[in-house]
Amino acid sequence: MVVKVVSKNFDIPNSHTLEVARANGRYSTIDKLFSMTPDEVTDQVVKSGLRGKGGGGAHCGPKWQLMPKGDPRPAYLIVNGDESEPGTFKDRQIFQYDPHLLIEGIICSSYAINAHDAYIYIRGEYKFFIDRLNAAIKEAYDAGIIGEKIMGKHDYRMDITVHRGGGAYICGEKSALIESLEGKRGHPRLKPHGKECEWFFDNPATVNNVETIATVPFIVENGYEAYTAYGTPSSPGTMLFAMSGPVKNPGIYELAFGNKMIDVINTLGGGMLEGKKLKAVIPGGSSCPILTAEEVEKAVLDYESMWDIGSTLGTGGMMIIPEDVSMVDVAKNLIEFYHHESCGQCTPCREGTGWIDKILKKIVEGKGEEADLNTILDVCETMNGKTICVFAPAVKDIIKSIVEKFRDEFVAEFKK
Ligand code: SF4
Repeated sequence: MVVKVVSKNFDIPNSHTLEVARANGRYSTIDKLFSMTPDEVTDQVVKSGLRGKGGGGAHCGPKWQLMPKGDPRPAYLIVNGDESEPGTFKDRQIFQYDPHLLIEGIICSSYAINAHDAYIYIRGEYKFFIDRLNAAIKEAYDAGIIGEKIMGKHDYRMDITVHRGGGAYICGEKSALIESLEGKRGHPRLKPHGKECEWFFDNPATVNNVETIATVPFIVENGYEAYTAYGTPSSPGTMLFAMSGPVKNPGIYELAFGNKMIDVINTLGGGMLEGKKLKAVIPGGSSCPILTAEEVEKAVLDYESMWDIGSTLGTGGMMIIPEDVSMVDVAKNLIEFYHHESCGQCTPCREGTGWIDKILKKIVEGKGEEADLNTILDVCETMNGKTICVFAPAVKDIIKSIVEKFRDEFVAEFKK
């Protein structure tokens, strides 16, 4: 069931060092990369169907094609390693076990979009991973892999800078991330009506997630057909799926898209701990609509299947919830987090998360009544489709799904 595209070197001792990384294939794509034109590289990525692994699932190749051609301004690649969504802990595996794969992916992706400067925006709390990443970048500079030339021979300047985030969840949203990188408050920007690239200090930029960038060398080296050989026709390829909660073997597993969720939980995850029954799964990081145990039986881990059952694949971070966990507590914990992390620009989000937080606190304290549930659902509706970014609609999705699917548990609280 497990496949090895991005995670190929994770289990090799000292895989993070340049010596071991090179002995195990890292930077082997570079000569092939420079035998291709940037458009040919982009074309391979377009045909691979590679999608963003940071939660949104946007196609990577078409995103690169939004970069303006012939623009005299410098282009930038910005790598999103903010990884702050509860239940999501996959990018840090790349920082820890294969930072040179990320550097190789940055070289490939930067070449495709004509960027000579790349920034890695990394979650501020990831001190260990920041140190490891910086050490790998230093090794790459010292060995002449990046810098004025690539691998000391290809005439292409490439500089990589690591930027440590300040701890705000919303800086994982790409426009907030850019604002933060520009030295401003990490507030999401209003989006243009048409499709266009991002803008970094008014220069064209592309923002891609760490795992997305780390997948590019495989596609360049092996061709898009090798990538589409995995997965389903509409969700080709693989993803690092995270499993957390009371299963016997929690962790990160790289899987082709298209596996049944329940099989993954029962085989790789080893099933539930201590014979507990599964109650629910939040499938792709904590803002994806929750699935009941019955829905988990039907859920298939690809984008379209997850949409079909009313949820999303998100970041692939599955949060397993057992029978003895109160869904009222789950909702309360989540809204407390999201209320704290709302950037506050939009009234429906700032006030909506606050109202739901207050109401759920009241319910947890045993002072709730059934009318509160309708108020929560009303507030959820006001948060949908009226805000600058998708934070508020995503919060609405998870809270609404918990209240609707586990209403009985809330009602039971009122009767205690
Ligand atoms: Fe900020 Fe929330 Fe508005 Fe997003 S939806 S911009 S997080 S207030």
